[in-house]
Amino acid sequence: MVRDRTSKPQRNPRLRGLQCLRCDALYPVTLAHDGCPACRRAGFHVALRASYLPEGDADGEAHSAHGMPMPYTAPFTLGEGQTPLHDMPQLAQKFGVARLALKDESCNPTGSHKDRMTAMGVSQALDFDAHTLVLASSGNAAVSAAHYAWAAGLGCEVATYEGMPATYTRQLDALGARRYVFADNAGRWAFVRERSQHPGYFALSNYRLPALGSAPLAIEGYKPVALECMTQGGLPDHIVIPTARGDLAWGIYAGFRDLLAAGRITRLPKLWLVEPFPRLSRVFAGGAINGSYPGHTAQFSTAGATVTYLQWQAATATGGGAVVVNDDQAREARGLLTAAGVSAELCAAGGLAALGQLRESNAIAPDDHVVLMLTANAASDPTWPDR
Ligand SMILES: [Zn+2]
Repeated sequence: MVRDRTSKPQRNPRLRGLQCLRCDALYPVTLAHDGCPACRRAGFHVALRASYLPEGDADGEAHSAHGMPMPYTAPFTLGEGQTPLHDMPQLAQKFGVARLALKDESCNPTGSHKDRMTAMGVSQALDFDAHTLVLASSGNAAVSAAHYAWAAGLGCEVATYEGMPATYTRQLDALGARRYVFADNAGRWAFVRERSQHPGYFALSNYRLPALGSAPLAIEGYKPVALECMTQGGLPDHIVIPTARGDLAWGIYAGFRDLLAAGRITRLPKLWLVEPFPRLSRVFAGGAINGSYPGHTAQFSTAGATVTYLQWQAATATGGGAVVVNDDQAREARGLLTAAGVSAELCAAGGLAALGQLRESNAIAPDDHVVLMLTANAASDPTWPDR
């Protein structure tokens, strides 16, 4: 791949600012992502999203390369996206649905869905003349950021945890990313927040508590998943998504919402957010969105005690919900995927177990079409092989 490292990504001229998910207040685009100050004063911790001027003139199409507005019409890229969608007819039959397909995000350049977000984040960093990406990560996001930062000529600092598996630390060290070790998410986010206040640093991940989510323009990078699902396999009825704080789920929701607004689809698929222990589920049972819901899990990519407004909105606005899959259930599902020739990170395998639960409760019907987001494969998963 030939890259011109001297050229800046081209920002969409229709990007008019960042807008609150809850109250629609409009703010300018900056490197900071502290959520909506108006909602915070009212006691709600709510992220902002990219907001675009409507299209309608002759050059409108040029600003929507993916059939939906994106923050950068010529982003920095390492070739992420356009991942394959694999039909799994035997698993569909076993779970009693008309159609089951796996969206294989392990085919992204560094092996996970995170590359979609990192590409847009690096584009914003270059656009705003930042010199260093900083993020808190349990693994996949850090590896993705380190690779993309290296390729873009940016620095990378990662707030991580003791005992980060060597499969990750080796890659971070080889790519010149600096690692800072903290005992918990609060410590990691405080570090990222402090760094982000220095000129030239761009925080890719969440850094606030209560949690908001990752950088809004970066999250836009997940929107093309919606278009790809539709063009590769038709509009699904349900999408099952492993979830920590909901960046991916919200990005997919936003993508389908754009397609709905453009008249390209007539309904939204229901998004089901899979979690390793009850968090969003407890919010649906009456808990506070910004409460703390701690738990332990081997599904390290979806660990954490927080819920965000982002993920709550992705589930409620689509008529979906939350599904709890514990580690034993995820391991059993991974066994089924492995037998079918599919390599899956443990939390990604959890999506198949979630499908089983959703069929049992009839939230998913026998004639439905389901897509599972295979966020990463087992190659970098320290819990593989299962014990
Ligand atoms: Zn607001």
